[in-house]
Formats: sequence, C-alpha cells, structure tokens
Amino acid sequence: MTETASPTPEIIATLRANLADVQAKIAQAAKDAERDAADVNLIAVSKVQPAERIQAALLAGHRVFGENRIQEAEGRWSQHREQYSDLTLHLIGPLQTNKARNAITLFDVIHTLDRPRLASTLARLFDEMGRQLPCYIEVNTGSEPQKAGVLPQDADAFIKACREEYQLPVIGLMCIPPADDVPAPHFAFLADIAKRNGLEKLSMGMSADYAQAVALGATDVRVGSAIFGERVYT
Ligand SMILES: *Cc1c(COP(=O)(O)O)cnc(C)c1O
Repeated sequence: MTETASPTPEIIATLRANLADVQAKIAQAAKDAERDAADVNLIAVSKVQPAERIQAALLAGHRVFGENRIQEAEGRWSQHREQYSDLTLHLIGPLQTNKARNAITLFDVIHTLDRPRLASTLARLFDEMGRQLPCYIEVNTGSEPQKAGVLPQDADAFIKACREEYQLPVIGLMCIPPADDVPAPHFAFLADIAKRNGLEKLSMGMSADYAQAVALGATDVRVGSAIFGERVYT
C-alpha cells in the first residue's frame, strides 16, 4: 500500500467505538419498531474525511462506505479495493451523465438516479459494460428547487419508466429531507411512495436522524459525521 495513512491506535479505537455506538442505536431503533436490525445496512459516509480515519474504519472491520463525489472516491477507493475484496461502495451524490462510466466502474450501488437522461445513459452503459448496478431513485420529497431528485408528483411515472422502458435494476428510493424541516414526515412520505410501487429498499437517515429513519423503515442509513467526526472543508 502506497497510501501514507497509518492511523494511531487512538483513532482506530475512536472509530471502533463510534461504529459500535451507531450500530447499537440502529439495533435499538429497529427493536422498538419491531424490525430486524439485520435489515438495516449502515453506510459509512466517508466524503471529505482524512485518509487515516477511513483506514481506521477499515481496520475496525467496516466494509460499507458512501461517497458523494466520483473523483474524490476514485482517488481513495481504487486502492482500498485491491486490498479489501469485500468492500461495498455506494454513490450517494449527484451523478452527471459524463461521469457515469467512471461511477459504474468504481461503485457497487447508485442512490441518486433522478432523471430520464441519466436512466437512459445508465441503461446503455450497463449493457455495454456488462455490469448492472442496483439503483435507488432519489426523490426530492421537499420539492426544493435547488435539490436533485425526482419531484414527488413525478415519482410513480419515473419509477415505472426506469423499470419498463430502461429496464434498470431499481431496488428502492432515497431522500435527503430539507435541512430545516423535521425529517420524519419526509421519511414516512418516501416509505409511502416505495410501498405503492412495490419497492423494498429505503435509503434515508443521516447522523442527526438515522434512528428516526430506522423507525420509519430505512433499510440503508447514510451516516458520516457520527462515525468519522465532523467534516473539515479546507
Ligand atoms: C454527507 C451525506 C450524508 C452523511 O451526512 P452526516 O450528517 O455527516 O451523517 C448522508 N447522505 C448524503 C447524501 C450525504 O451527502
């Protein structure tokens, strides 16, 4: 390994403790909701985090990670990929069509399918590359103008088009509630759209609200700062 990130024992211990704490809260929330905690996948969101913290999470045994920028993810994960054959990498940030090929090469799951042009590009590339990635459709549950995601009123038709017209392996829905809103109604709303479309997976819940998301049916929570510490943007 050429990467210089050698985490100290303290950092490894911190990551181990944070992961255990989040897992325990997921387990409690699942139990309270009479769900099986094994049905909830913890995606450790490593964007912007220093390499040593990511290395520490790997050493602590975690294997499921989320990134939101392709270039950043390529830089750090291509190498870990060689060392850890059991990694699962989730793309949780917006995907531009001209980056789709790189995304399909690096990632295992896409959470941000949100428009016909991207659906058509993915369909073509999945065929061409002989690699089908399970996809979540992102729903803009707060109908925020600046935010990615299909609008709620267009969700049913888009889900149908992705399945029938583009033949994509759509497995669930994803949302990022508006920052200033109480998240629970958005989670319930997303669960409702998924249910009426026969979709089983729900990617929802971040550091501040993953327990609530689990209570409302999340199968994938995307947790960054509660595991790695605050992100420092430089
Ligand atoms: C950054 C990010 C997260 C994790 O956020 P935290 O609040 O640090 O847990 C989850 N989902 C998406 C889409 C993100 O971009």
